[in-house]
Amino acid sequence: MKRVFTMVASVFRRPSRTVERQAEWIDMMVHDLRAPLTAISSNFKILSTRGDDLPPEMRQRFVANTRLAIDRMTTLLDDMLAVSKIGSDELPLRLENVSAADFLRAHLEAFEGQAYESEIRCVLDCPPDLSARFDPSLMGRVIENLISNAFKYTPKGGVIQVTASADSQWVCFSVRDNGSGIPDEYKQRIFEKYFQAPDHAGQRARQGTGLGLTFCRLVVEAHGGRIWVEDAAGGGSDFIFWLPQ
Ligand code: ADP
Repeated sequence: MKRVFTMVASVFRRPSRTVERQAEWIDMMVHDLRAPLTAISSNFKILSTRGDDLPPEMRQRFVANTRLAIDRMTTLLDDMLAVSKIGSDELPLRLENVSAADFLRAHLEAFEGQAYESEIRCVLDCPPDLSARFDPSLMGRVIENLISNAFKYTPKGGVIQVTASADSQWVCFSVRDNGSGIPDEYKQRIFEKYFQAPDHAGQRARQGTGLGLTFCRLVVEAHGGRIWVEDAAGGGSDFIFWLPQ
């Protein structure tokens, strides 16, 4: 396991280009953290000075937007911390034998509200007796990252399919959506730190952090596995990862 961590850590110790990119990442992180912080601070100012004069629905909106901005800052900081911890050899794996079906069902349930609102159908396909050995907390964030991305890109009325299967050596998980798909030239790069593929209009999706898939890759690799993305049959993306049995 130590060897895997060392291998992962070495990715972050590449010379000069890393230093350059670190400066770029810091700029981006400062930029990304400043936006929700500005929203929190101006909402707070309005609520604390004029809150009582505002119509209730407007007050609710300010509170809800503040909540969203706080959540966004928390996610951003959690992702930054997790990626830097894994990259610097500090994150121990707490391996457990886990029922794949129970694990996937529990994490899919967290998206029930979102599925209802966006009229997206979530399908789980997993043998009831399939068990796998992994760190359930870290792997839970991997699967939630992948499902949450699938929600971002799946149109209203679409389908997200989560599957697990196994052979004698590997347990294979996949999260498939029928969204816009990912052009071939970005299929590997989206797993790099802070990389966000441009959309069809050439704009980067700056509302995200570009860290989610890096986190997924580092966690899967720390387990001795592999993650990649393929085109889903009929359009969309199929994120697949394998863990050793
Ligand atoms: P974020 O979502 O915060 O931008 P991620 O690391 O999770 O960061 O994803 C990196 C990029 O990969 C996204 O910005 C997007 O361009 C692309 N991507 C991820 N998941 C999907 C998906 N299911 N469909 C299409 N593109 C995706």
